[in-house]
Amino acid sequence: MTGIERIEISHHRLELDPPFVASWDPRPRTHFPATIVRVYDDAGHVGIGSGDAMYGFADYESYFIGHDPLDLDRHGAVLANIDFHAGRPWPLDVALWDLAGQILDRPLWHLLGGGRDGEHRVRAYASSAVHRPVPEMVHVARRARELGFPALKVRFGRADLAEDLAVVRAIRDDLGDRLHLMVDCNQGWRMPWDVRPPWDVDHATAVAEALAREHVYWMEEPLHRGDYAGMAELRRRVDLPLAGGEMTRERYEFAELLDRDCLDVFQPDCVCSLGLSGLRHVAADIVAAGKVFTPHTWGNGIGLLANVHLVAGTVGAPFVEFPFDPPEWTTARRDYPLTETIEVDADGWISLSDRPGLGCPLDEATLARTASPAATFS
Ligand SMILES: [Mg+2]
Repeated sequence: MTGIERIEISHHRLELDPPFVASWDPRPRTHFPATIVRVYDDAGHVGIGSGDAMYGFADYESYFIGHDPLDLDRHGAVLANIDFHAGRPWPLDVALWDLAGQILDRPLWHLLGGGRDGEHRVRAYASSAVHRPVPEMVHVARRARELGFPALKVRFGRADLAEDLAVVRAIRDDLGDRLHLMVDCNQGWRMPWDVRPPWDVDHATAVAEALAREHVYWMEEPLHRGDYAGMAELRRRVDLPLAGGEMTRERYEFAELLDRDCLDVFQPDCVCSLGLSGLRHVAADIVAAGKVFTPHTWGNGIGLLANVHLVAGTVGAPFVEFPFDPPEWTTARRDYPLTETIEVDADGWISLSDRPGLGCPLDEATLARTASPAATFS
Protein backbone atom coordinates (compact mmCIF):
# COMPACT_ATOMS: atom_id res chain seq x y z
CA MET A 1 0.00 0.00 0.00
CA THR A 2 1.19 3.45 -0.79
CA GLY A 3 0.94 6.29 1.70
CA ILE A 4 0.47 10.03 1.41
CA GLU A 5 3.96 11.46 1.55
CA ARG A 6 3.51 15.22 1.49
CA ILE A 7 1.24 18.14 0.66
CA GLU A 8 2.49 21.28 -1.07
CA ILE A 9 0.53 24.53 -1.28
CA SER A 10 1.68 27.39 -3.52
CA HIS A 11 0.19 30.77 -4.39
CA HIS A 12 0.25 32.46 -7.78
CA ARG A 13 -1.00 35.71 -9.29
CA LEU A 14 -1.58 36.38 -12.95
CA GLU A 15 -1.28 40.07 -13.76
CA LEU A 16 -4.42 41.41 -15.45
CA ASP A 17 -3.75 44.25 -17.83
CA PRO A 18 -6.28 45.63 -18.57
CA PRO A 19 -7.79 44.92 -15.15
CA PHE A 20 -10.95 42.89 -14.62
CA VAL A 21 -13.88 44.94 -13.29
CA ALA A 22 -16.08 42.27 -11.75
CA SER A 23 -19.63 43.33 -10.96
CA TRP A 24 -19.26 42.10 -7.38
CA ASP A 25 -16.05 44.00 -6.63
CA PRO A 26 -15.82 47.81 -6.61
CA ARG A 27 -12.03 47.60 -6.98
CA PRO A 28 -10.77 46.69 -10.44
CA ARG A 29 -8.90 43.42 -10.14
CA THR A 30 -5.30 43.78 -11.26
CA HIS A 31 -4.42 40.14 -10.53
CA PHE A 32 -6.08 36.75 -10.70
CA PRO A 33 -4.80 34.66 -7.81
CA ALA A 34 -4.62 30.88 -7.75
CA THR A 35 -3.62 28.58 -4.94
CA ILE A 36 -2.40 25.19 -6.10
CA VAL A 37 -2.51 22.18 -3.79
CA ARG A 38 -0.38 19.19 -4.70
CA VAL A 39 -0.58 15.93 -2.78
CA TYR A 40 2.05 13.25 -3.34
CA ASP A 41 2.13 9.58 -2.49
CA ASP A 42 5.32 7.64 -1.83
CA ALA A 43 5.07 5.88 -5.22
CA GLY A 44 5.57 9.12 -7.16
CA HIS A 45 1.95 9.97 -8.00
CA VAL A 46 0.66 13.50 -7.55
CA GLY A 47 -2.85 14.92 -7.38
CA ILE A 48 -3.80 18.58 -7.80
CA GLY A 49 -6.52 20.86 -6.53
CA SER A 50 -7.29 24.56 -6.33
CA GLY A 51 -9.83 26.89 -4.75
CA ASP A 52 -9.47 28.49 -1.34
CA ALA A 53 -6.14 30.15 -0.44
CA MET A 54 -5.61 27.47 2.24
CA TYR A 55 -3.73 29.87 4.54
CA GLY A 56 -2.61 28.09 7.70
CA PHE A 57 -3.34 24.62 6.38
CA ALA A 58 0.17 23.42 7.28
CA ASP A 59 -1.14 23.01 10.83
CA TYR A 60 -3.41 20.18 9.61
CA GLU A 61 -1.21 18.37 7.09
CA SER A 62 -0.08 15.78 9.64
CA TYR A 63 -3.63 14.36 9.74
CA PHE A 64 -3.07 13.07 6.20
CA ILE A 65 0.62 12.14 5.99
CA GLY A 66 1.19 8.38 6.01
CA HIS A 67 -2.48 7.54 5.41
CA ASP A 68 -3.76 5.43 2.53
CA PRO A 69 -4.44 7.91 -0.30
CA LEU A 70 -7.42 5.82 -1.43
CA ASP A 71 -9.26 6.16 1.91
CA LEU A 72 -11.26 9.03 0.42
CA ASP A 73 -14.27 8.86 2.75
CA ARG A 74 -11.94 9.17 5.74
CA HIS A 75 -10.14 12.15 4.20
CA GLY A 76 -13.46 13.83 3.38
CA ALA A 77 -14.61 13.42 6.98
CA VAL A 78 -11.37 14.90 8.36
CA LEU A 79 -11.61 17.81 5.90
CA ALA A 80 -15.19 18.47 7.05
CA ASN A 81 -13.85 18.82 10.61
CA ILE A 82 -11.09 21.15 9.43
CA ASP A 83 -13.70 23.19 7.52
CA PHE A 84 -15.49 23.68 10.84
CA HIS A 85 -12.32 24.90 12.54
CA ALA A 86 -10.33 26.69 9.88
CA GLY A 87 -11.81 27.68 6.55
CA ARG A 88 -12.50 25.85 3.32
CA PRO A 89 -9.89 23.11 2.81
CA TRP A 90 -11.69 21.44 -0.12
CA PRO A 91 -8.96 21.92 -2.73
CA LEU A 92 -7.16 19.11 -0.90
CA ASP A 93 -10.20 16.86 -1.33
CA VAL A 94 -10.09 17.46 -5.09
CA ALA A 95 -6.32 16.83 -5.06
CA LEU A 96 -6.84 13.53 -3.20
CA TRP A 97 -9.47 12.43 -5.72
CA ASP A 98 -7.12 13.41 -8.54
CA LEU A 99 -4.35 11.42 -6.81
CA ALA A 100 -6.67 8.41 -6.57
CA GLY A 101 -7.36 8.77 -10.28
CA GLN A 102 -3.63 8.79 -11.00
CA ILE A 103 -3.02 5.73 -8.81
CA LEU A 104 -5.93 3.75 -10.29
CA ASP A 105 -5.50 5.13 -13.83
CA ARG A 106 -9.14 6.18 -13.96
CA PRO A 107 -10.70 9.53 -14.86
CA LEU A 108 -12.60 11.29 -12.08
CA TRP A 109 -15.96 10.98 -13.81
CA HIS A 110 -15.48 7.19 -13.70
CA LEU A 111 -14.20 7.16 -10.12
CA LEU A 112 -17.30 9.14 -9.12
CA GLY A 113 -19.61 6.52 -10.61
CA GLY A 114 -20.02 7.45 -14.27
CA GLY A 115 -20.36 4.52 -16.66
CA ARG A 116 -17.81 3.87 -19.38
CA ASP A 117 -20.52 3.63 -22.02
CA GLY A 118 -22.11 7.01 -21.32
CA GLU A 119 -21.22 10.36 -22.81
CA HIS A 120 -18.73 12.11 -20.60
CA ARG A 121 -19.70 15.61 -21.41
CA VAL A 122 -21.73 18.39 -19.81
CA ARG A 123 -23.27 21.41 -21.47
CA ALA A 124 -22.17 24.81 -20.25
CA TYR A 125 -23.84 28.16 -19.78
CA ALA A 126 -21.88 31.37 -20.26
CA SER A 127 -21.56 33.14 -16.93
CA SER A 128 -20.88 36.83 -17.44
CA ALA A 129 -19.28 39.08 -14.86
CA VAL A 130 -19.05 42.65 -16.10
CA HIS A 131 -21.77 45.31 -15.86
CA ARG A 132 -21.94 46.72 -19.37
CA PRO A 133 -24.39 49.20 -20.92
CA VAL A 134 -27.57 47.64 -22.33
CA PRO A 135 -26.49 47.52 -26.02
CA GLU A 136 -23.22 45.80 -25.05
CA MET A 137 -25.09 43.26 -22.93
CA VAL A 138 -27.20 42.44 -25.97
CA HIS A 139 -23.97 41.89 -27.88
CA VAL A 140 -22.72 39.58 -25.09
CA ALA A 141 -25.92 37.56 -25.37
CA ARG A 142 -25.73 37.32 -29.18
CA ARG A 143 -22.13 36.18 -28.94
CA ALA A 144 -23.01 33.53 -26.33
CA ARG A 145 -25.69 32.15 -28.65
CA GLU A 146 -23.38 32.23 -31.66
CA LEU A 147 -20.73 30.30 -29.70
CA GLY A 148 -23.25 27.55 -28.96
CA PHE A 149 -24.08 28.27 -25.33
CA PRO A 150 -27.70 27.40 -24.57
CA ALA A 151 -27.87 29.94 -21.76
CA LEU A 152 -26.32 33.11 -20.36
CA LYS A 153 -26.20 34.37 -16.79
CA VAL A 154 -26.15 38.10 -16.13
CA ARG A 155 -25.43 39.93 -12.90
CA PHE A 156 -27.64 42.39 -11.15
CA GLY A 157 -26.28 45.00 -8.74
CA ARG A 158 -26.07 48.18 -10.80
CA ALA A 159 -26.82 51.38 -8.88
CA ASP A 160 -30.29 51.45 -10.44
CA LEU A 161 -32.39 48.28 -10.51
CA ALA A 162 -34.26 49.64 -13.54
CA GLU A 163 -31.02 49.36 -15.53
CA ASP A 164 -30.59 45.73 -14.45
CA LEU A 165 -34.12 44.97 -15.58
CA ALA A 166 -33.56 46.84 -18.85
CA VAL A 167 -30.68 44.46 -19.63
CA VAL A 168 -32.95 41.43 -19.27
CA ARG A 169 -35.70 42.99 -21.35
CA ALA A 170 -33.33 44.05 -24.13
CA ILE A 171 -31.75 40.59 -24.38
CA ARG A 172 -35.15 38.94 -24.44
CA ASP A 173 -36.41 41.40 -27.09
CA ASP A 174 -33.37 40.71 -29.24
CA LEU A 175 -33.03 36.94 -28.90
CA GLY A 176 -36.52 35.80 -27.99
CA ASP A 177 -36.50 32.25 -26.71
CA ARG A 178 -33.28 31.30 -28.51
CA LEU A 179 -31.22 31.70 -25.32
CA HIS A 180 -32.07 30.85 -21.72
CA LEU A 181 -31.31 33.72 -19.41
CA MET A 182 -30.44 33.51 -15.72
CA VAL A 183 -30.07 36.40 -13.30
CA ASP A 184 -27.74 36.38 -10.31
CA CYS A 185 -28.92 38.84 -7.65
CA ASN A 186 -25.96 38.00 -5.38
CA GLN A 187 -27.84 38.72 -2.16
CA GLY A 188 -26.31 35.78 -0.32
CA TRP A 189 -22.68 36.50 -1.11
CA ARG A 190 -21.23 39.00 1.31
CA MET A 191 -17.90 40.32 0.20
CA PRO A 192 -15.57 41.51 3.00
CA TRP A 193 -16.45 45.20 2.48
CA ASP A 194 -20.12 44.62 1.76
CA VAL A 195 -22.33 45.84 4.61
CA ARG A 196 -25.52 46.75 2.73
CA PRO A 197 -28.60 44.93 3.95
CA PRO A 198 -29.76 42.20 1.54
CA TRP A 199 -33.17 42.36 -0.14
CA ASP A 200 -36.25 41.42 1.86
CA VAL A 201 -38.90 39.05 0.57
CA ASP A 202 -41.25 41.81 -0.65
CA HIS A 203 -38.53 43.47 -2.71
CA ALA A 204 -37.37 40.10 -4.03
CA THR A 205 -40.98 39.31 -4.98
CA ALA A 206 -41.28 42.47 -7.06
CA VAL A 207 -38.03 41.68 -8.88
CA ALA A 208 -39.01 38.04 -9.35
CA GLU A 209 -42.34 39.03 -10.90
CA ALA A 210 -40.50 41.24 -13.37
CA LEU A 211 -38.11 38.40 -14.22
CA ALA A 212 -40.94 35.91 -14.59
CA ARG A 213 -42.51 38.20 -17.20
CA GLU A 214 -39.28 37.91 -19.19
CA HIS A 215 -39.25 34.11 -18.80
CA VAL A 216 -35.99 34.07 -16.87
CA TYR A 217 -34.76 30.48 -16.42
CA TRP A 218 -33.76 30.95 -12.80
CA MET A 219 -33.35 33.76 -10.28
CA GLU A 220 -30.18 33.24 -8.28
CA GLU A 221 -29.64 34.32 -4.67
CA PRO A 222 -32.60 36.69 -4.35
CA LEU A 223 -32.24 36.72 -0.56
CA HIS A 224 -29.57 36.33 2.06
CA ARG A 225 -28.23 32.78 2.15
CA GLY A 226 -29.63 32.27 5.65
CA ASP A 227 -33.11 33.61 4.97
CA TYR A 228 -34.72 30.17 4.68
CA ALA A 229 -38.19 31.43 5.62
CA GLY A 230 -37.93 34.18 3.00
CA MET A 231 -36.86 31.76 0.26
CA ALA A 232 -39.71 29.38 1.04
CA GLU A 233 -42.17 32.29 1.06
CA LEU A 234 -40.79 33.66 -2.22
CA ARG A 235 -41.17 30.25 -3.84
CA ARG A 236 -44.82 30.18 -2.77
CA ARG A 237 -45.41 33.64 -4.17
CA VAL A 238 -43.80 33.47 -7.60
CA ASP A 239 -43.68 31.05 -10.49
CA LEU A 240 -39.96 31.29 -11.20
CA PRO A 241 -37.23 28.79 -10.25
CA LEU A 242 -34.96 30.01 -7.46
CA ALA A 243 -31.28 29.08 -7.31
CA GLY A 244 -28.74 29.31 -4.49
CA GLY A 245 -26.59 27.46 -2.00
CA GLU A 246 -23.31 28.07 -3.77
CA MET A 247 -21.34 28.69 -0.58
CA THR A 248 -23.51 26.62 1.77
CA ARG A 249 -21.06 24.71 3.91
CA GLU A 250 -22.73 21.88 5.78
CA ARG A 251 -24.63 18.76 4.81
CA TYR A 252 -27.34 19.55 7.39
CA GLU A 253 -27.84 22.98 5.83
CA PHE A 254 -28.58 21.38 2.46
CA ALA A 255 -31.01 19.02 4.19
CA GLU A 256 -32.74 22.00 5.79
CA LEU A 257 -32.95 23.87 2.46
CA LEU A 258 -34.55 20.76 0.95
CA ASP A 259 -36.91 20.13 3.89
CA ARG A 260 -38.16 23.71 3.85
CA ASP A 261 -38.47 23.79 0.06
CA CYS A 262 -36.32 26.90 -0.24
CA LEU A 263 -34.80 26.37 -3.71
CA ASP A 264 -35.35 24.75 -7.09
CA VAL A 265 -31.70 24.80 -8.18
CA PHE A 266 -28.78 24.00 -5.86
CA GLN A 267 -25.34 25.33 -6.71
CA PRO A 268 -22.69 24.08 -4.27
CA ASP A 269 -19.16 24.13 -5.67
CA CYS A 270 -16.90 21.18 -4.82
CA VAL A 271 -13.86 23.36 -4.23
CA CYS A 272 -15.79 25.53 -1.72
CA SER A 273 -18.25 23.12 -0.05
CA LEU A 274 -17.79 19.51 1.07
CA GLY A 275 -15.49 18.53 -1.79
CA LEU A 276 -16.19 15.74 -4.23
CA SER A 277 -16.42 13.42 -1.21
CA GLY A 278 -19.43 15.21 0.25
CA LEU A 279 -21.13 16.78 -2.75
CA ARG A 280 -21.58 13.52 -4.62
CA HIS A 281 -23.95 12.51 -1.81
CA VAL A 282 -25.57 15.96 -1.58
CA ALA A 283 -26.11 15.95 -5.35
CA ALA A 284 -27.92 12.62 -5.06
CA ASP A 285 -30.12 14.02 -2.25
CA ILE A 286 -30.94 17.09 -4.33
CA VAL A 287 -31.94 15.11 -7.40
CA ALA A 288 -33.88 12.57 -5.31
CA ALA A 289 -35.93 15.50 -4.01
CA GLY A 290 -36.80 16.50 -7.58
CA LYS A 291 -34.45 19.49 -7.63
CA VAL A 292 -31.62 20.49 -9.96
CA PHE A 293 -27.93 20.31 -9.02
CA THR A 294 -25.63 22.55 -11.05
CA PRO A 295 -22.48 23.72 -9.31
CA HIS A 296 -21.23 27.25 -9.00
CA THR A 297 -17.72 27.71 -10.28
CA TRP A 298 -15.80 30.93 -10.50
CA GLY A 299 -12.15 30.08 -9.97
CA ASN A 300 -9.61 28.72 -12.39
CA GLY A 301 -10.01 25.72 -14.68
CA ILE A 302 -9.14 23.20 -11.96
CA GLY A 303 -12.33 24.01 -10.08
CA LEU A 304 -14.32 24.07 -13.31
CA LEU A 305 -12.99 20.65 -14.32
CA ALA A 306 -13.62 19.17 -10.87
CA ASN A 307 -17.23 20.36 -10.93
CA VAL A 308 -17.77 19.10 -14.49
CA HIS A 309 -16.40 15.66 -13.48
CA LEU A 310 -18.74 15.70 -10.48
CA VAL A 311 -21.79 16.40 -12.64
CA ALA A 312 -20.75 13.97 -15.39
CA GLY A 313 -19.96 11.19 -12.91
CA THR A 314 -23.07 11.55 -10.76
CA VAL A 315 -26.45 13.11 -11.40
CA GLY A 316 -25.99 15.22 -14.55
CA ALA A 317 -27.28 18.77 -15.01
CA PRO A 318 -29.02 20.79 -17.72
CA PHE A 319 -25.86 22.87 -17.89
CA VAL A 320 -23.02 24.04 -15.63
CA GLU A 321 -21.48 27.44 -15.01
CA PHE A 322 -18.70 28.44 -17.42
CA PRO A 323 -17.03 31.71 -16.40
CA PHE A 324 -16.67 33.52 -19.71
CA ASP A 325 -16.89 37.23 -20.45
CA PRO A 326 -14.24 38.33 -22.93
CA PRO A 327 -12.27 40.48 -23.33
CA GLU A 328 -11.95 40.83 -19.54
CA TRP A 329 -12.58 37.18 -18.71
CA THR A 330 -11.17 34.73 -21.24
CA THR A 331 -10.44 31.03 -20.98
CA ALA A 332 -6.73 31.90 -21.22
CA ARG A 333 -6.91 34.08 -18.11
CA ARG A 334 -9.22 31.72 -16.26
CA ASP A 335 -7.23 28.54 -16.94
CA TYR A 336 -3.68 29.89 -16.71
CA PRO A 337 -2.51 27.22 -14.21
CA LEU A 338 -3.26 24.48 -16.79
CA THR A 339 -1.47 23.46 -19.99
CA GLU A 340 -4.78 23.50 -21.90
CA THR A 341 -7.72 25.85 -21.65
CA ILE A 342 -11.14 24.26 -21.18
CA GLU A 343 -13.33 25.08 -24.15
CA VAL A 344 -16.85 24.32 -25.28
CA ASP A 345 -17.68 22.85 -28.66
CA ALA A 346 -19.95 24.50 -31.23
CA ASP A 347 -23.03 23.44 -29.24
CA GLY A 348 -21.74 24.48 -25.83
CA TRP A 349 -20.58 21.07 -24.57
CA ILE A 350 -17.51 20.44 -22.41
CA SER A 351 -16.15 16.96 -23.14
CA LEU A 352 -14.08 15.12 -20.56
CA SER A 353 -11.21 12.89 -21.57
CA ASP A 354 -10.26 9.36 -20.48
CA ARG A 355 -7.05 10.62 -18.93
CA PRO A 356 -6.64 9.76 -15.24
CA GLY A 357 -7.95 12.07 -12.54
CA LEU A 358 -8.92 15.59 -13.56
CA GLY A 359 -7.15 14.95 -16.84
CA CYS A 360 -5.26 18.18 -17.27
CA PRO A 361 -1.65 18.81 -16.25
CA LEU A 362 -0.35 21.96 -14.60
CA ASP A 363 1.56 24.52 -16.65
CA GLU A 364 4.65 24.51 -14.48
CA ALA A 365 6.42 27.28 -16.41
CA THR A 366 3.49 29.67 -15.97
CA LEU A 367 3.12 28.71 -12.31
CA ALA A 368 6.81 29.45 -11.73
CA ARG A 369 6.48 32.80 -13.48
CA THR A 370 3.38 33.77 -11.46
CA ALA A 371 4.56 32.52 -8.05
CA SER A 372 3.53 34.89 -5.27
CA PRO A 373 3.67 34.98 -1.48
CA ALA A 374 -0.08 35.64 -1.32
CA ALA A 375 -3.26 35.00 -3.30
CA THR A 376 -4.82 38.46 -3.47
CA PHE A 377 -6.74 40.20 -6.27
CA SER A 378 -5.01 43.57 -6.17
MG1 LIG B 1 -23.94 33.11 -8.01
